[in-house]
Amino acid sequence: GGDLTADSRVTGAPVSASGTCLQGQPVQIVTTTDQHTFQLDEERLEEILLSPNVRDKKVVVVSVAGAFRKGKSFLLDFFLRYLNAQASKDWLGDDSSPLEGFPWKGGAERYTTGILMWSEPFEITLSNGERVAVLLMDTQGAFDSQSTVKDCATVFALSTMLSSVQVYNITSNVQEDDLQHLQLFTEYGRLAMEDNGTKPFQSLQFLVRDWSYPYQYAYGANGGMELLNKRLELNDKQHPELQQLRQHIRACFTNIGCFLMPHPGLKVATNPYFDGRLSDIEPDFKIQLLELVPLLLSPENLVVKEIHGRDITGKELVEYFKLVGGDKPY
Ligand code: GDP
Repeated sequence: GGDLTADSRVTGAPVSASGTCLQGQPVQIVTTTDQHTFQLDEERLEEILLSPNVRDKKVVVVSVAGAFRKGKSFLLDFFLRYLNAQASKDWLGDDSSPLEGFPWKGGAERYTTGILMWSEPFEITLSNGERVAVLLMDTQGAFDSQSTVKDCATVFALSTMLSSVQVYNITSNVQEDDLQHLQLFTEYGRLAMEDNGTKPFQSLQFLVRDWSYPYQYAYGANGGMELLNKRLELNDKQHPELQQLRQHIRACFTNIGCFLMPHPGLKVATNPYFDGRLSDIEPDFKIQLLELVPLLLSPENLVVKEIHGRDITGKELVEYFKLVGGDKPY
């Protein structure tokens, strides 16, 4: 793999490691209108979820959520590359061929608080032979003050309810702030939980970017889990509020993980003309990327979206979107 065709060079269309052109673009499906309301674009959502290849298939919904400018789209580009290459071993491509085209970037919409969905779902065969549709979402908002976090909490709550895997993209460490934000985002889940006793959400993956203490907790999922267990530990000396916060987070999700990512290197972080060529990315970052992406997206690790313990289809997801996201203020 890794060959770019002459055509794709000319058109600049993104090419996966296996050489297939990547189709689709990010579509804004939820936008915040003012402080506490948001608008669901039902038409665009239905175009994606009611398409013949999706409507009757079970769906996997992977969301990456967090503040602007924290590397979410950079990461989502690798998700796209992996899914487009159908999990082939050399999905990342080789170092020397610059893989161009960063589809999640560009456009004013990048800075609109809300939810973007990739327009083309990926059809993947699970280990039991079943074909499912994988949907990717990017959930973003401003996190620069407590009040802006509150303002966008509804959108994060919505994406947490709608996804089967929520990747919570944070920088440098798991801090008390990050946990408090998460509590805001999951507040609505508590209500759902009181309804029927099952956990309201499925998988939560903390993703710590620019982790710089690998000698203390190693990069990857094991180090991440150790760090997270430490952060979620309960002890008698904690204020009751801090204890409740930790219990709430554990109670809301069926599965919680944490992954520690190294810094991608200065070319990625500071060069505005960086085009994603692999040779410009630090080797440690690529090593961890090869762990992280399959951990979330390989056929054996995909998590089908469930509501009240039942797998749901594209068609049912539309109904659920309308139910929880019908443009009403919370
Ligand atoms: P988004 O707004 O969260 O989607 O962020 P982008 O993916 O657009 O990335 C914002 C900037 O951070 C870009 O210049 C990226 O090249 C850079 N970047 C991407 N990943 C990382 C990372 O893991 N660490 C750092 N420090 N910068 C990153």
